[in-house]
Amino acid sequence: MTLFSDIGEFGFIDKIRNGCEVCPESIVKGIGDDAAVFRTDHGKVTLLTTDLLVERIHFIKEGMSGFELGYKSLAVNLSDIAAMGGTAEHAFVSIAVPENCKIEWIEQIYDGMKALGKKYAVNILGGDTTGSKKDLVINVAVVGSAQEKEILYRSGARPGDILCTTGYIGDSRAGLDLILKQALIDEPHMSVLKKAHVLPEPHLKEGRFLAETGKVHSAIDISDGLSSDLKHLTDESGVGAVIFSDKLPISKDLKFFCESCDIDPVQFALAGGEDYVLLCAVDRNACEKIARGFKEKFGKTLFRLGRVTETEKIERVGTDGSRYPMDPSGWDHFKK
Ligand code: ADP
Ligand code: MG
Repeated sequence: MTLFSDIGEFGFIDKIRNGCEVCPESIVKGIGDDAAVFRTDHGKVTLLTTDLLVERIHFIKEGMSGFELGYKSLAVNLSDIAAMGGTAEHAFVSIAVPENCKIEWIEQIYDGMKALGKKYAVNILGGDTTGSKKDLVINVAVVGSAQEKEILYRSGARPGDILCTTGYIGDSRAGLDLILKQALIDEPHMSVLKKAHVLPEPHLKEGRFLAETGKVHSAIDISDGLSSDLKHLTDESGVGAVIFSDKLPISKDLKFFCESCDIDPVQFALAGGEDYVLLCAVDRNACEKIARGFKEKFGKTLFRLGRVTETEKIERVGTDGSRYPMDPSGWDHFKK
């Protein structure tokens, strides 16, 4: 076992350098100089996003493996690029490591990031390393690109648009519950839920597909939960929305979980969070065709769960047809 304090900052950088460059065409200089140098594609705009993860605030060491933590740290950033309809290109990883931290664990974090980077052609081109008194802190920044006219802004939704998601919602929150309860997770439904929480897939390909149609007016990734993220989208667009409870994309795995502990899966779907699927507002006249194309390309459903309205309210239509105001703060149960 090696501790971070045994090898220090530079020993550490040497250890993780290998395997960071998976897509060398645009790289002029990666790790090893004062700044990274890469070519950008003229005619496109550059996207840049960053997310900070702090131990005991965003993750607990006991809850996930190093590989999973690394995978997820990069995935949440790639998801932000996906939500803009962009292509992710390079990542920068800054890390503050407690001295007594095992180096093998940090290497696993990098293994997780490199595995995801390889999957989506994203290089790790640099970062910064420092010590920390107690907690591990990871900051990931991702650079991407897009055609300016294809970018999916939160502000583009128009009354009449159909609200869709590119995947199921609520699974990740159920996975977190299982982890926190230290439940046995070898049952197949439960392992799907756990995976949704610890190894989320960024919907980059789905985001590109939606952006290329030219008929998707707005998008956001679901990180806080449908009710909060929908509110961000409607606020930025100056519109309202109605969501149909019987159209919520709830997986059979989440249903199984909720039946086993007598919870309403609708609450998980509305307020769960960390699903990292995309919520988008699609031109109503093009939606049928786009959903068909989506199914053909990805072999899965583009779920149509609601509509954009003119009023600035967000409402949910219950399975009995009655309307409820939808609280953006989600499920009080989740609050401390
Ligand atoms: P500087 O002193 O100029 O900040 P460093 O010695 O911190 O340079 O970094 C040396 C090289 O290693 C740089 O290319 C930097 O981007 C890279 N680097 C440092 N820390 C990390 C890290 N945690 N992950 C990836 N690359 C890193
Ligand atoms: Mg430095």
